Order: sequence, then C-alpha cells, then structure tokens
Amino acid sequence: MRGIDELDVAGRTVLLRADLNTPLDGTTITDDGRIRASLPTITKLAGRDARILIIAHLGRPKGELYAQRAAGGPSLRPVAGRLSGLLGRPVPLAADVAGESAASVAAGLADGDVAMLENIRFEPDETSKDDAARAGLARRLAALAGPDGRYVADGFGALHRKHASVYDLPALLPHAAGDLVVAEVAVLRRLTENPERPYVVVLGGAKPSDKLAVIANLLGSADRLIIGGGMSYTFLKAQGYEVGKSLLEEDMIPQVSQVLAEAGRRGVEVVLPVDLVAATGYSPDAEHEVVPVGDFPADRESLDMGPATRELFASRLADARTVFWNGPVGVFEFPAFAAGTRAVAEAIGRVNGLTVVGGGDSAAAVRILGIPEDSFTHISTGGGASLEYLEGRPLPGLVALDGPA
Ligand code: ADP
Ligand code: MG
Repeated sequence: MRGIDELDVAGRTVLLRADLNTPLDGTTITDDGRIRASLPTITKLAGRDARILIIAHLGRPKGELYAQRAAGGPSLRPVAGRLSGLLGRPVPLAADVAGESAASVAAGLADGDVAMLENIRFEPDETSKDDAARAGLARRLAALAGPDGRYVADGFGALHRKHASVYDLPALLPHAAGDLVVAEVAVLRRLTENPERPYVVVLGGAKPSDKLAVIANLLGSADRLIIGGGMSYTFLKAQGYEVGKSLLEEDMIPQVSQVLAEAGRRGVEVVLPVDLVAATGYSPDAEHEVVPVGDFPADRESLDMGPATRELFASRLADARTVFWNGPVGVFEFPAFAAGTRAVAEAIGRVNGLTVVGGGDSAAAVRILGIPEDSFTHISTGGGASLEYLEGRPLPGLVALDGPA
C-alpha cells in the first residue's frame, strides 16, 4: 500500500476520499472527531501544493433520484464550515457532487487550496450494486480532477464499502493511502497479529446481528469477551433470562447460543451483565431502577448496565494487555443511562497495554463523556470498517488501493 509521501501531488487536483460522517443534531455537529482526524492528511497535501477536492458522505439521504436526495439532505454545509474553521482557511462547497458546480469549484482550485463536493450519497450510483453504474459515477468524479488527477484514500470508516468513491475511483487514477488510513490499519494489524495477552474484547451497541460475525472470528484470538449494551439482552435471553421489553433479536438466539457453546469449547471466557437498569421507556427522563438479571420486570426495558455489572466488567479488564472496545454498553446519549459506558471507558483507560476504541458511537461516547482521549492507544474513526477487518474480511477500499492505476 503506497502512502501519500510517494505520490506526486504538487499542482495536481487530488480527489481526497475522507470520512466526515459526523453526528448532527439538526445542522449542529455534536462530535467533530472525524473532521479533526482528517486534518493531518489535508494539511500535508495542501503543504505540498496539491489542489484538494474532498469527497465525503453524510448520513443516509432518502429517495431514488439525485434530485430527491439533494433536496432532502443532509448537506455537507455544516461540515465544510467546521473544516474551514479548523483549517483556518476557506473551504468552498460545491452545490452538487459531479455536476456544473463541482466542475467550476474544481477549476477554481489553486495550489494548496481545499474544497469539497456535496454529499456523495446524493448520487444513487455511489452505493449501487451495479458495477457499471458505479463505474460511471467514478468516471465523472475522475474527470473533475483532469488528466493529471490523483486519488487519496483517507476515509477509513468507509473502506468496507464497495462504493464508487471508495472502490471504483482509485482504479482510474494514480492513488495512495492517506496517513489516517495507514495509522488505522497499522493498529488493527497489531490486534490481529500476535496480541499481548490477556486480549479482552468488549462489545456493546444495539444489535447482535451487527456483530455476531466478528464475535465468531474473535473466538479464535481473544481470551475474554465482555458483552454489554443492547446486544447483551439477546445473549441473556439465550441463557434463559427474561429481559422484558429490552432490545431483543429473537431470531438471533440460536446463533448466539452456538457462539456461547463455541466459546465454551475454546476456553474463551464470556462475561455478561449480572444486573441491569430497568426503565419505564426509551426516554432521557424515564423512571428506572436497578434489578438483578434474574428478576427483570416484564413491562420494563433496560437502557444501561447496573453497578454490579460495572464492577464486574472493570475487574475483568484490569489484567488485560490488549483491549478492543466497540459499542456503548448503554444509551449513553441519555445522561441518566451513561454510567455503564463511562465505567467501561474508564476501566479501559486504566489498562496497561494496547487499547483500541472502534466505532463511531463509541468514539463519540468517549468525547461526550469527557474521558481523556489520550487514555487510549487509539480511537478508530471506523466502526464497521474495523469490525470487518477483525472479521478477517478484505476491505474493498484497501483491495482497490493495492490494485493498478
Ligand atoms: P458503534 O457506532 O460504536 O459501533 P453501535 O452503532 O453498534 O456502536 O451502537 C451504538 C448505539 O447502541 C448507541 O446509539 C446506544 O444508544 C445503543 N445502545 C447501547 N446500549 C443500549 C441499550 N442497552 N439499549 C438500547 N440501545 C443501546
Ligand atoms: Mg454506530
């Protein structure tokens, strides 16, 4: 994989695929971690006189046609504004993705300038399963950079997507991996190649279906699996506990049971919650009480782990030498239900070894809860991408970087 130091960019238009998919409350950015993580590569390329045209996606625009999606948003406008503030220079945003406005913004770039295209997911072909449709969009994007154009992949969080701007575009232009992608891959490699032991994996988040594949794969490398959050209720149910109205994926119970049995055969310790915070509903001010897992009220839903679980999880992290954490263990977005996630983050922060946080929401939780970012070795910008890497699946965006052009 070639890095940007080996790419001739001076005076050339560089299409930089970044991951600027930041959480928004309306048009207000609630966590700009991914924008900040993208700064070093942008600054370096600008310092080398590249003409930088950033391609990024935001949210999930709805509608079949470009016009519907562009009208419904979300626009990258707030992101361009924040990026401009952080860089201390103007960052013009094209009004379209690969149309007239994009062409005129590209033509207006001088050496060292930075501009952005509108939300790439306004283009339905970006995520198309039809190879020809994606290739068509890739050609329109490449044309914006002209005959000397270059491509830099720095959007780690999108590398697991077989999308036009991630997978097809690098085949059309001389390309390299940005510093963020290089750094992220280096850390994941340390997790997969001979991690120091005990290697403890903490998994939370909403649903086991998102993460069962990675769990199955991790049984071959991790020593201990701590499971909390929304996905833990399906695990508890598989063990015969009632979980009331908590998040549950009934149809995953057989697979979850298989994973538990396989963990037993391989001697991987699985740590599950022993008490839960039972709330009257999914709301920030829902009434709630702590109950042991064996005594969960039928009309309640769990939004967080209880104090005994917080202590248990912390104690099973204390001796770790390698930790990977993905997924908040409670609805941390509601302050009343953030204690479990805080406890996990703090316990990992105390670990003496390699500690990696992966996942958009997990990374946001760390920052929103005010846990010092430097208490972890690495906070990844990509949840799905890091999980698929740990699953052992080739990431389309990395495969493309190893290909010709
Ligand atoms: P990441 O983005 O870090 O990979 P996920 O997207 O898998 O994490 O999961 C994050 C979401 O899981 C959060 O929005 C959080 O509110 C939700 N969640 C965590 N625990 C629970 C729970 N106990 N009940 C409902 N939702 C939960
Ligand atoms: Mg998420």
